[in-house]
Amino acid sequence: MRTRFVNLRIPAGGNETVAAEIVVADGLFEEIVPAGNQTAAGGEQWVNLRGGLVLPGAIDGHVHFDDPGFTHREDFASGTAAAAAGGVTCVVDMPCTSLPPVIDADSLATKLRAIQAKAHVDFMLWGGVSGDSFDRPDWRERLAELAEGGAAALKVYCLSGMSSFTALDYDRIDRVLEAAAGHGLPVGVHAEDPTIVGELTEAIRARGGDRPADWAAARPVLAEVAAVRRIIEGCRATGARVHIVHLSSGAALELIAAARADGVAISAETCPHYLEHTLDDLIRQGALLKTAPVVKSADDRERLWAGAASGELFTIATDHAPAQWPEEKHTGSIWTDYGGVPGVETLLPYLHSEGVTAGRITLERMVELVAANPARLFGIDHRKGALAEGLDADFAVLDPEVRWTVRASELHNLNRYTPFKGRELTGRVRACYVRGRAVFERKADGRELFAPAGSGRWVRRGEP
Ligand SMILES: [Zn+2]
Repeated sequence: MRTRFVNLRIPAGGNETVAAEIVVADGLFEEIVPAGNQTAAGGEQWVNLRGGLVLPGAIDGHVHFDDPGFTHREDFASGTAAAAAGGVTCVVDMPCTSLPPVIDADSLATKLRAIQAKAHVDFMLWGGVSGDSFDRPDWRERLAELAEGGAAALKVYCLSGMSSFTALDYDRIDRVLEAAAGHGLPVGVHAEDPTIVGELTEAIRARGGDRPADWAAARPVLAEVAAVRRIIEGCRATGARVHIVHLSSGAALELIAAARADGVAISAETCPHYLEHTLDDLIRQGALLKTAPVVKSADDRERLWAGAASGELFTIATDHAPAQWPEEKHTGSIWTDYGGVPGVETLLPYLHSEGVTAGRITLERMVELVAANPARLFGIDHRKGALAEGLDADFAVLDPEVRWTVRASELHNLNRYTPFKGRELTGRVRACYVRGRAVFERKADGRELFAPAGSGRWVRRGEP
């Protein structure tokens, strides 16, 4: 069955768009042509997208869907439904917030069994090396299993708040980088220096500090800078491909940009909350906005936007990591309140509104940051990440002029809170297609339709 999507626009460089028609057959883009140039072929189904802006489906390279093991926070069905409603057609789920953590072939298989039937959108899986898994004599074999098993990339932490997935010291990270390089697998690094944060945390807690500002004071820009500086050295020495996840500071971005210019294979991701929020917001919103790294200053925020515009930042992902709301965000202490915010559903509309419409980045750059570049990072750019003939027909339909207000209760993930609540945005996702099939539609009367869970499929790195 061929489907012809008509009455739509697609990006055409910079902020330009052009009227087009898209033909999908067998789940792939078969033709993308200027509007009105084609006549209907026999047996085609037509879908009128009523002037919508069609974008390549976003690939959120950093989500914690917590399944199996922590499904009081999120599960794969609710997480991927939220993704679909946000125009995210592929998520890349982290290895550290499910039980068992994904550290080898067995745990990868366990995870797949738990989540596959729940997926509303396509997904990839990060593997990882924790302190505990490194302690086993066969950690290299386990890493090799992940590479051969199709893990998207490997995650390590310089500093971890999780007992189920502990950090590695820098020397151990170097050894993981070396091993990962041998498999051609990129390594995502949570880059905050454990010594700096540890000492500050101890001192601040000793004097009774227990406010959001104290949490922020324990995790200064310097902690990120020190870790990034050390990781760059490891990257240089091993030749590994490193991606610094959830970068939060301008100073660390400067280091990464300089290293990249010097030929080091390092890149960085930031998240919408670092582009939107500052310490003032953390103080105002309290634990709701608690994340690690913590949000920084207005100057950092501007530097990150500049990096998004210039290409110094490679990707934008959400670090979607909800707590059980409200219990885990109101434990009585900022130190034990859960660190993490949902975000997968607001990624694309937020960037369209505050990036493209506000004139900070072009439409073309936004698509690179959330689709083309993540596809390159995870080795699936021959399958996904662009509106191009032969690729999976994954796309979002956006109404670029529609103004709407983010309301936590209207999100689709399990625990509905968001630091973006009350934010008015321009541009809203109306529909989402994965391999040519509608997985989400918002009807004119407000009804929301989702395809059944299980329509999303696992995408392995290295798959032809
Ligand atoms: Zn994360």
